[in-house]
Amino acid sequence: MSNHTYRAKWIVPVDAPPIEDGEVVVEDGGIAAVRHRSVGSDNVRDFGDAVLMPGFVNAHTHLEYTVQRGFLEDVPFFPWVRALNAAKAHLSPEDWLLSSRLGAMECIAGGITTIGDNTDAGVTMRVASETGLRATIYQEIFGIDDREPIDPILAALRAKIEAHRRLASDRVRVGVSPHALYTLRPELLRALVEYMREEQLPSSIHIAESPAETALTELGEGPFWEMYLRRGITWEPPRMSPTHYAEALGLLGEGTLAIHCVQQDHADSDAVAASGASIIHCPKSNAKLGAGIAPLAHWLKTEGLTVGLGTDSAVSNNTLDMFEEMRMALLMQRGVRQNVEAVSARDVLRMATLGGAEAMGWGAVTGSLTPGKRADLIAVCLDHPHTTPATDPVSALVYSARADDVVMTMCDGETLYDEGAWRTIDETGTLSAAREIRARLADAAKKETSP
Ligand SMILES: [Zn+2]
Repeated sequence: MSNHTYRAKWIVPVDAPPIEDGEVVVEDGGIAAVRHRSVGSDNVRDFGDAVLMPGFVNAHTHLEYTVQRGFLEDVPFFPWVRALNAAKAHLSPEDWLLSSRLGAMECIAGGITTIGDNTDAGVTMRVASETGLRATIYQEIFGIDDREPIDPILAALRAKIEAHRRLASDRVRVGVSPHALYTLRPELLRALVEYMREEQLPSSIHIAESPAETALTELGEGPFWEMYLRRGITWEPPRMSPTHYAEALGLLGEGTLAIHCVQQDHADSDAVAASGASIIHCPKSNAKLGAGIAPLAHWLKTEGLTVGLGTDSAVSNNTLDMFEEMRMALLMQRGVRQNVEAVSARDVLRMATLGGAEAMGWGAVTGSLTPGKRADLIAVCLDHPHTTPATDPVSALVYSARADDVVMTMCDGETLYDEGAWRTIDETGTLSAAREIRARLADAAKKETSP
């Protein structure tokens, strides 16, 4: 039986008040005890002026896009989506794999132990398994063109899901991501609802992200509508909000992540709550793309609504840093509401850990330092000028700390990162491969735009 004790100035269990001068006992990859430091503990490692807390749950990412960080800056939402899709043609499966590995490196070094990852290329099952992250990998699916038959699309999805299931484990689960309401037609979305129900697959879908999406579903106008007209796609506007359209199609329910939900009124968020689906808030991505500021303060007051936090991809963020994401969520909400009480530091810390875990169905396993859960544990050093003096560990984490203050990341009792070194990823190889892929992508883009 392996038994280790991790000590620090602060333990922040998330589901219980912080403990000063505490320790976490890890036994066979699980949390055996969370307590004040005691005499006679075994194999003690003391992190000193630091916080021990549960690993972050980044409930919405696209790790495969990491190599496109900074590729599409300062572009409005619709052309941004289009350019991102065009760039996909220049990347090989091996490129997607390396790009995802770069994303995993960043996540792990920043204290993220669980990801909710949407993948089009399908490579992140392998990356999560290799790197030791806890993950639900949602295979993305697209299909807006009503002239394309549904059966082959579904058959291709089934084959991908079966392949992913062969890589699934205690730490890595499989799900489906119908990409968005504007990239799949209603018949296909209904067929997917049926399929996911039969196979008991969790789902992740981008909903109510941009004003362009609302213009499409409510009014049948705007850039998406014009794109349909240009491509000869027939699509009947449902004349309701994106959220109500998703609800009407049966897409919302237990095990569904409704990503973004920026363009929502109270009736929309009530519908999400009533369905049992959860919302994943990606404040930095939403702000960067000019999509808006989601009604987070209202969600937090909505009975029965689970809210998690996600970075979205490096193309729209540009970092996979949950500290920054917590801070953005809190500050933007307070700014727009002109109210300090709109959101608390505890609220965003919970969203970044237990909220995301509960949303993805991992709540019994991770998201808090609770005896009986798996040891998804990180150490955040507070021994820096920007975190000194720290008298309240939660406020230090939310207002001052940053991803590179993480000194150790452990998932399921396995150390993935320690004192600047990755245990499961080849750091130099991954970084140089990423630079090489990016240079090729830039060349291809240049050729396309030159006359
Ligand atoms: Zn996304």
